[in-house]
Order: sequence, then C-alpha cells, then structure tokens
Amino acid sequence: MSLSSAKRASTVAVRVGGVTVGGTAPVVVQSMTNTDTADIAATITQVAQLHRAGSEMVRITVNTEEAAKAVISIREGLDKQGIDVPLVGDFHFNGHKLLHKYPECAEALAKYRINPGNVGRGANRDEKFASMIELACRYDKAVRIGVNWGSMDQELVVRMMDENARSPQPRDNNQVTQEIMVVSALDNARRAEELGLGRDRIILSCKMSGVQDLIGVYRELASRCDYALHLGLTEAGMGSKGIVASTAALAILLQEGIGDTIRISLTPEPGGARTQEVQVAQEILQSMGLRSFTPMVIACPGCGRTSSVFFQQLAQEIQQYLRNQMPLWRDSYPGVEAMNVAVMGCVVNGPGESKHANIGISLPGSGESPVAPVYEDGEKTVTLKGDHIAQEFQALVERYVERHYGQA
Ligand code: SF4
Repeated sequence: MSLSSAKRASTVAVRVGGVTVGGTAPVVVQSMTNTDTADIAATITQVAQLHRAGSEMVRITVNTEEAAKAVISIREGLDKQGIDVPLVGDFHFNGHKLLHKYPECAEALAKYRINPGNVGRGANRDEKFASMIELACRYDKAVRIGVNWGSMDQELVVRMMDENARSPQPRDNNQVTQEIMVVSALDNARRAEELGLGRDRIILSCKMSGVQDLIGVYRELASRCDYALHLGLTEAGMGSKGIVASTAALAILLQEGIGDTIRISLTPEPGGARTQEVQVAQEILQSMGLRSFTPMVIACPGCGRTSSVFFQQLAQEIQQYLRNQMPLWRDSYPGVEAMNVAVMGCVVNGPGESKHANIGISLPGSGESPVAPVYEDGEKTVTLKGDHIAQEFQALVERYVERHYGQA
C-alpha cells in the first residue's frame, strides 16, 4: 500500500465532478454503459445500477445528435433520484460538433474522453482537437486523452514506423507500437496544455489488449509524465478470461503505484449483469489491500474431507448477504467494508482461519462431530449445531456488525 500511495502521490490530482482522480486520492472505480445513450430511460437505469454497485464515475457513448440531446435528460433524471455520479462522455469522430451544437450536453458531462486516433487527419484533426479542448476550458471540464491500440493516429503510426525501419537498429513492432501510443498521449496532452487546459484537468490512458503490452506501455507512460492515469485492459473478453487477464495486468501496475482510476472492460455474458465489471474492479483493489468496499468472505476450496456442498452454499449465502447489506450498512456502520468473514469446511484449517477473521465458522467435515464452532475476534464464542446453522451464523454476523461498527 505504501509503495502504491507513494508513487500515486506523484501524479497531478484531477477533479471530475465531485470525484478526485490522482494525487493522493484512492484509486477510483469507473465503468461504462452499454445501452443506447439515446434511450434515456434505459441509460438512467443502467447508470443507477452501476453507481449502486459502486461505480464512482460512469462513461456513456455520445455518438449522435440524439445521444447528445439525451445526455441532458439523463443528467436531470439521475439528479432527481439523488444520484450525483459524474458522467463521462465518450466521443469519437464528431465530438467537436456535438459539444458545440449542444452546450447543455457539454455542461452536463463532467469529463470528455477524446481518442486522438479518432479525431481526424492533418490540419482538420488539429482544428477538431483544439475545438474540444477549448470547450473543456470554457466549461471547466476534465479531459481524458484516451489512446487505444485499436484506433491509433495513423499519421503518427506511418511516421514512426518509417523512422524505425530506417534506423540502424530497428525495434520490433510491439515496442514501436507502445512507443507510438505513449508519444500520442504525451503529444496530445502537451497540445491541450498549450491550448490552455490545466494539467489538473488532464487524464491519460494507453489501452492495449495484451497483458504484457499493457504493463509495458503504462510503465513507460508513468516514467515520462506526472499526469493522472486511467488504467484498463481493453477488450479484456468474457468470463474468467477477461477477469484473469485484467487482474493480472492491473495488479502488477497498481502494485507499482501506476494507475489512478480503473475500468474492467468485460464482455457480459448474454443477459449477464453489466455491474460485474464494477464488482471485479472493487475486488481487485480490495484483494490488494488498496481499498475496501464490501466485507470479504474467506472460504476454503473444500476437499475430500467435506461430504456435502453445505459449506459452499453457506459461503455463497454469506457473501451474497454481505453484498446485499452493504448499501444499508455503508452509512450506519462505517468501517464494516473492511470486515473479514471466514467460512471453512473442516477442522484442519477451519479454527485457525476463523481466528484470523473478524468472525468465522468452522463447519464439520466428514467424520467430524456435527458441530460448528464460531470465533469472534480470535475467540470461540459459540458452537452451532442442528439444521439452522446458516441462519444462526447470519444472525451472529449481523450482531457482530452492530456491536463493532454501530455508531454510539
Ligand atoms: S479446511 Fe478442511 S475442508 Fe477446507 S480445504 Fe482444508 S482440509 Fe479441506
């Protein structure tokens, strides 16, 4: 934690609505909707869901005039529900036009994401980029200069690839690609500053889809600037692959103190919850000890000593119960998000792990007497038995929370 905090403190703090990114601020969790932004009701619903799940900023696509007009109603609708989460507008190709034509949209957004590869070409590109930066200055908004290797500035690619080919010791394509991305981010940030945007209004990102590529490009970027950095593995993919790849890349960078805000770009399963990306982002930060969001359940994997799925069900029920309670507990029980609850399958590691947790239960393994000792703050407090162990343990957790985190 100290390593990360020390490095992170060397980035410039950026205010995005009511949220601070960079400086000494904790790493911010953000997400992105996948609704049609022009569908106001659906977008409000999803932004609210993402925010309730813990997303501290939400990005929405602003790709058409209908979407730009909808942004205003979306902001109003969220405000009416008391949801003040900052909205980030994701612009490509026509951002300058939309922001000029719909100043209320420019005002309603807390940050504009500009992809330098999707702004235009040549003088036309410079003009469009300048136009968006001038609007950010006028409305006092933050900007993310978001480079993505799937849409790099082609003029820069051609120039730097040619230079590399002519050099006496050409670097491999991957290295050159990473260098192009870093140069693109830094050149555009410098240009934005020349146009009057403060360093405290600029966030950079260089997203790639390969774990080693992402680590390499961010290490380079962080070594060459002190801008706040948005971190994410782009196109991470579905299911466990997306989660593992994102975690592998982000954990290494965060441990080195690189990254001030993160987004996990998971492809949801058909019908799956968009909020999964928020949960994964939180779990990465909490597992690393960088932030706490929800009490964690420590559960053993089970083995031949467990004769039923009972303890798996209990672990799942307790995890779900804790997650469900958090919106209610957040204000009433400050600090509860750092609590650990152990649910263990047998006597081998059960009592020991339970003693390390705030509260833990060691269920009976096969051949053990059918009792389940409960430990609170390292001491055995009660032994549960019978058919209602799950409900009784849940009640004990509830009482533990009231006793330890309730305000006098
Ligand atoms: S605690 Fe017991 S049940 Fe769980 S993995 Fe270890 S030996 Fe197996």
